[in-house]
Amino acid sequence: MIYKLISYSEVKMPLPPRKSSYAIGIVQDTKGKKQIVQIDRKFFGKLKIGMSGQIEIHQTMDGAINVFSPNSYKEKVGPKVAVVTGSSSGIGRAIVLKLAKDGFDVVVNSASDSKKGEGVAREIKKIGRSAIYIEADVSDEMSVEQMIEKTIKKFGKIDLLVNNAGITRDKKLENMSKEDWDKVIAVNLTGVFNCTKSAISYMQKEGSGKIINIASVVGEMGNFGQANYSASKGGIIALTKTVARENAGDNILVNAIAPGFIKTKMVEAIPKSIIKKVIEQIPMGRLGEPEEVANFVAFLASDKAGYITGQVFNINGGLYM
Ligand code: NAD
Repeated sequence: MIYKLISYSEVKMPLPPRKSSYAIGIVQDTKGKKQIVQIDRKFFGKLKIGMSGQIEIHQTMDGAINVFSPNSYKEKVGPKVAVVTGSSSGIGRAIVLKLAKDGFDVVVNSASDSKKGEGVAREIKKIGRSAIYIEADVSDEMSVEQMIEKTIKKFGKIDLLVNNAGITRDKKLENMSKEDWDKVIAVNLTGVFNCTKSAISYMQKEGSGKIINIASVVGEMGNFGQANYSASKGGIIALTKTVARENAGDNILVNAIAPGFIKTKMVEAIPKSIIKKVIEQIPMGRLGEPEEVANFVAFLASDKAGYITGQVFNINGGLYM
């Protein structure tokens, strides 16, 4: 049934911890029957008397409510938009390809891997989705801001940010230089801070959004030779929970994924003898595939994962339970 909006009033209640603003409206069906509905705050500033839409029934703790969803806005909203950092190769590449297959338009990013990044964007266009490659070093606040601005200019919004860019500089702590420490923290942890800070203000304006941070099993259990890397990944887990708490009231869901050892160039760089020993420790007896991480990112990014925030999901073949 199609309903027409005949009047509405925006109700703003910006009271912490839950900034639950909404609009109340009166709609009329094709037979002239009127009813009161609630309208989501993401439609604020976009409502027009006479616009048509549908009514969805939402179950809440206080019972069922009728929620009006304007059609024209739905059409204008278009496909969801994802920014995936470090998506020129490995896990990030698998994530953008899977998201594109699921209907997302995507921003492919790397700091300097432009040839591969442009190639991934071309692969996505072949799937039939829109994609742009934007070069930006996540550890550099200014380049991140420019990347997010370019994204808004091209797509008008950001529905999903996947903080995936990461590097390693492995050495036992006593041999690790301050530079090795700083560089890994700057890319892996400060990079997540920069991208989240820049993208979240747009999500707050939209009244919804999702952030998925790629941490690591070693952020939970530590690892020989990875003081910098494991500290950065442990930091991502704590940052995820904090940003999730701060933004749940704005319908922005923030989660982390902690992969085990996944077949990418990051793992290929580890000596074969060590990888053999690692595989012996994995109950499933094998490395993971980038697609096995991407599939879970796609689930969290989907509307099926609407009540999950502040969590850390292990994808590690049983290495850490
Ligand atoms: P990868 O080396 O194939 O990919 C890393 C990506 O990050 C590349 O696209 C690279 O260009 C990009 N990148 C590097 N520095 C950047 C910067 N400063 N700014 C923007 N982009 C940058 O490695 P991967 O294995 O696919 O790693 C992806 C993520 O998954 C990383 O965060 C990594 O720590 C994490 N992870 C990987 C494994 C694994 O076993 N491969 C396990 C756990 C977590």
